[in-house]
Amino acid sequence: MKALIARRIVFDSFERIHERTNRALVLNSSFQPVKLVSWQKALILWFQGKVEILEYHHVAARSASSSFKLPSVMRLKRYVNPRRSTRLKFSRENIYLRDSYTCQYCAEQFPAKELTLDHVVPASKFGRKDWTNVVTACRDCNHKKGNRTPLGAGMPLLNEPRIPTWLPVTQPNFQIENMPEEWRPYLGTG
Ligand SMILES: [Zn+2]
Repeated sequence: MKALIARRIVFDSFERIHERTNRALVLNSSFQPVKLVSWQKALILWFQGKVEILEYHHVAARSASSSFKLPSVMRLKRYVNPRRSTRLKFSRENIYLRDSYTCQYCAEQFPAKELTLDHVVPASKFGRKDWTNVVTACRDCNHKKGNRTPLGAGMPLLNEPRIPTWLPVTQPNFQIENMPEEWRPYLGTG
């Protein structure tokens, strides 16, 4: 029932919702960061009684009859084993997060819009599209590497690509310009 209400919530002005405030940081019951969730998922977790809210964003979501402050930091009431429970979605954003928005060839950091995904072993050479064969690359490096392996192109990788057990939000250079202030103490970067 409450989840239904959550789905009916609409913002009075969706355009005003900034990237900083549309996600919530979820902590384990032990206060370790587990993952980021959308504001919709955050409200549903709260309606379901699975989390306690530790911090709020400074914007509210409104339905016809009520208004909710959006959660910014939430703590799970029951401990979850991150290795077993968090199956991270293979996606562009998660690859960028894993690699800290850093080109894995020239080691420079870029905003998302200037980044690309690179197949370490090119798809044309039967390289798989998965966590261990896809890395973050800037446009220049991706172009320069072309249809070659790192060895063939003489462009060694910064890090060996791995399947992350949870999003590496504790890395100090994680989207620092987009991180809400109130997350810092929980990520050990404050
Ligand atoms: Zn590069």
